[in-house]
Amino acid sequence: MTNQLKTYPLKDWGLDIQNPLIIAGPCSVETAEQLDKTVEGLVKQGVKIIRAGVWKPRTRPNTFEGVGSIAFPWIQEAKEKYKVKFAVEVASPAHVEEALKNNIDLLWIGARSTANPFTVQDIADSLKGVDIPVLIKNPINPDLALWIGALERIHEAGITKIGAIHRGFSNFNDTHFRNSPMWQIPIEFKTRFPDIPLINDPSHICGKRALIPQVAQMALDLNFDGLMIESHFHPDAAWSDAEQQLRPEDLGLLLASLKTRQVFVDDPAFASQLQSIREQIDDTDREILELLSRRMGLVEKVGEYKKINNVAVFQIERWKKVFQTRPEWAIALNLNPEFVKELYKMIHTESIKKQTEVMERHLS
Ligand code: PEP
Ligand code: MN
Repeated sequence: MTNQLKTYPLKDWGLDIQNPLIIAGPCSVETAEQLDKTVEGLVKQGVKIIRAGVWKPRTRPNTFEGVGSIAFPWIQEAKEKYKVKFAVEVASPAHVEEALKNNIDLLWIGARSTANPFTVQDIADSLKGVDIPVLIKNPINPDLALWIGALERIHEAGITKIGAIHRGFSNFNDTHFRNSPMWQIPIEFKTRFPDIPLINDPSHICGKRALIPQVAQMALDLNFDGLMIESHFHPDAAWSDAEQQLRPEDLGLLLASLKTRQVFVDDPAFASQLQSIREQIDDTDREILELLSRRMGLVEKVGEYKKINNVAVFQIERWKKVFQTRPEWAIALNLNPEFVKELYKMIHTESIKKQTEVMERHLS
């Protein structure tokens, strides 16, 4: 089921939008010189929309919290000199007011703000009657409803140029990424809101330069509408997020190397081949479900048998064995054992439920 909010597609945002949409710029504005040199480099690489943090939400106090209002004259100068648009993060009505007063072209709501409905509502209230594009980052926690809620609040305030930014999710178990991409969440978002532009932020997902190309390509393969990437003329000297910023030249190389995929292809041979593979997938899925149905039938049988012999539903030793062997079998079948582990957690939960139902049936 798709859930429509009345919004404008990217091409009607009144900006010179590239396909895919590229927004690049420093994590934070630092000095007039840093902004000028960075924007100069980015314009040479064809970037038309610059991102720049003026107020920075930091995890710990007494770290650099953005230069604040003194950034606006520098931004204004860069806008005039390089004919670019600027996007800035806002986290309060005061930020919104100042950004609007200073001709900022796009606003974005950061991941920490999206996680707080009070903050989002305050921002939404301050945007009533304003016509500006607003991009909403996913909340730091993997909660799709919270992300959608933020979009709805901004939409209800009358904003119609709305985009979503996927910047990954906090996850203690992930040592590879700074924020786990959890692609299934933006995919679910895209399924529910196909008309809302979805932009990937590989910088905050990766946390380090080397990983950015693969994440950016993955986003384009998944048909994202654009990328927001952090770039600084001298990344190692950056005051925030130094490890994940790219030099403008390197951003240019990255953009040139990315492959944009077509959503529809006219070639009839390709279409019939695709159709045939999809039919085989449909048949395989039917077989998977038939096997699952058979498995649940056996589970019910075990439930009956346990009931007759007065044995508890949950047998930890048996479960341990299932949980250990299935990922092992998965490896032999060239399947990801982590995926199979997750799958069996769900199968096990359903099996317990089925057996409990059997027990209750006997009781009544
Ligand atoms: C940022 O874009 O610099 C930023 C603070 O990102 P996030 O809100 O995604 O952490
Ligand atoms: Mn940053």
